[in-house]
Amino acid sequence: MKKTVCIILTLCLLFAAAPAAMASGDVTVDSSWSVLVPESPTSYESFAAEKLASCLSEIFDAQISLTTSAQGSFIAIGSASGTDVSGVADNGYRIEVINGCVHINGTAQRGLQAGVYRFLEQFCSRKVYTSAITVMPKAQSIAVPAGTDIVYEPFFESTDTDWRSPHNTEYAMANGLTNGANRYIPAEMGGSVNYLGGFCHTIGGLCETASYKDSHPEYLALHDGERTVDQPCLTNPDVLAIATANVLAILRDRHDPNASLQIVSVTQNDNQNYCECENCAAFEAAHGGRHSATMVNFVNQIADAVAEAGYDNVAVDTFAYQYTQAAPQNIKPRDNVIIRICSIDCCQAHAFDADCNKEYLRDLEDWSKICGRIYTWDYATHFLHPCNVFPDFGRIQKNIQILYEHNVKGVFVEGNYFIDSCDTEFGELRAYMIAKCLQDPYCDLDSEIDGFLDAYYGPGGKYVRKVLDIYTKQSGSYDGHMNIWYGSWSCMRPISSLTAALINHYWKTAEELAETDQQLANLERSELSWRWWKANAGKSEFSFFSWNRADECEKLFDDLRAHGVTLLQEFTYENLDEIAPDVIRYAVPDRWHVGAEENESVAEMIKINKLAERFPPLFGLVAWIYNMTRS
Ligand SMILES: [Zn+2]
Ligand SMILES: [Zn+2]
Repeated sequence: MKKTVCIILTLCLLFAAAPAAMASGDVTVDSSWSVLVPESPTSYESFAAEKLASCLSEIFDAQISLTTSAQGSFIAIGSASGTDVSGVADNGYRIEVINGCVHINGTAQRGLQAGVYRFLEQFCSRKVYTSAITVMPKAQSIAVPAGTDIVYEPFFESTDTDWRSPHNTEYAMANGLTNGANRYIPAEMGGSVNYLGGFCHTIGGLCETASYKDSHPEYLALHDGERTVDQPCLTNPDVLAIATANVLAILRDRHDPNASLQIVSVTQNDNQNYCECENCAAFEAAHGGRHSATMVNFVNQIADAVAEAGYDNVAVDTFAYQYTQAAPQNIKPRDNVIIRICSIDCCQAHAFDADCNKEYLRDLEDWSKICGRIYTWDYATHFLHPCNVFPDFGRIQKNIQILYEHNVKGVFVEGNYFIDSCDTEFGELRAYMIAKCLQDPYCDLDSEIDGFLDAYYGPGGKYVRKVLDIYTKQSGSYDGHMNIWYGSWSCMRPISSLTAALINHYWKTAEELAETDQQLANLERSELSWRWWKANAGKSEFSFFSWNRADECEKLFDDLRAHGVTLLQEFTYENLDEIAPDVIRYAVPDRWHVGAEENESVAEMIKINKLAERFPPLFGLVAWIYNMTRS
């Protein structure tokens, strides 16, 4: 509600200010300006002022200096500014024109710096698209509307995705990624939201059940009539005391009172062997029959101990995952408890509000009724075949909007974290899209995508956009759905030969337009995912009716390697040198990671595809049907 009011107020201020801006014109910032800092700046103010001055110096090709004297024209930073941020939420900012000068102020640890990055982005057109591509046009001057009064409050307290560029500090600062799990942001730059201790599945470390197996079997979960070390019994008071002591020990060692937020994770082990003892069963029965009830009760008590010990910038995190995904009844997580809900079973062709994802949305809605601090763990890459096209572009923004509208306060979108071993698709684009939506779920994403494509692929970027639009339209298998474990060809609905030819044409045209070797390399690398899809689906040059299919498969494999691919699957660590030439030429790429000698169906596939190679007009249909039904 607060956010909505704030957006409305901001819009009102902007609209109300418009006539004044028209009347008095824009404020023109040029090389005669300076950056006004307080006499004794904080580390945040120093960083923000120096960042701004150095970027402006580069833009104007002139030295922009810092000053403590409010003379002439200046951009005032932090407490040197006259901007009131008392009503702005933590880590938010306000950018305002007052008496012909620009004022930027922010709240908590990161607000001011975020305000400076926003100023650079909005008024200087500075964009950090990847860790290697920053666009910052030179200018004689920049215009700031005289009525400017921008108020921003973070939509999420923690934002995170992985891939490659999001690990970069400058990229994270510019695009608003704040969690420390995948990046390092020094304290003097505002720091990050950090997990202390483990990131997930931590209960095994907080209460080492194996060490109590003989002395206290009652500490262990009773599952299927037997005590198991797989999970602890969450209603046993000694287990609670042990885990609480360990959480407090972590905090004694690593707590930072100056951090915006720190998190200790108390999360179930990664198995289904929850406790079914009499106490646990009775407690869960009294709370809607949900296994999450004992977990919330357990974590609430730890969270109380953390609060009582005075750690008021610490939250205790637990999962709503698998058997704990459904929310309990008659019990609520404490304010300093984070519920992290995971969408691993969701359809990736559709947003969370689609019918196919109704179970997830129901659980999210249930949790949002009792918990004001939900975090989510989402997925945005094809984990089974990461070389393939993963057409989830149409759901990214909608999903993040849905999360924001359901009280979600922290989002992690897991991408292809092994991208350095397998970069064939649109990893950098998708990471940018996610970061921008986490920064502002209602941003103009189309324009962000177009800007990225221009910068990353060059003049051919507009043809890549056409390709992406077709992929998005075709997203999902025959029934329109897909997830991160689908076979490659079934990630997109059947594509006609004509449409495939059109996509080929777009890629070729884009490549012809490339102006630099880097743009061409980016285009060829992203096209690999389309070639991978075609090779699995038997389309275009990879048709089973083509005399050259085997040669094209071999060429695809060579090109993948030439672009640095050393991994074909998330958990495959085979040496690509060891894949037999016949497997490369005659098996579909989805099966390349499986040696023919280890898999009878691959051996059979090789035989049939070899036969088709001899006379495709006759055997192509048999080969096509065989491959489609087995991959
Ligand atoms: Zn139990
Ligand atoms: Zn679906």
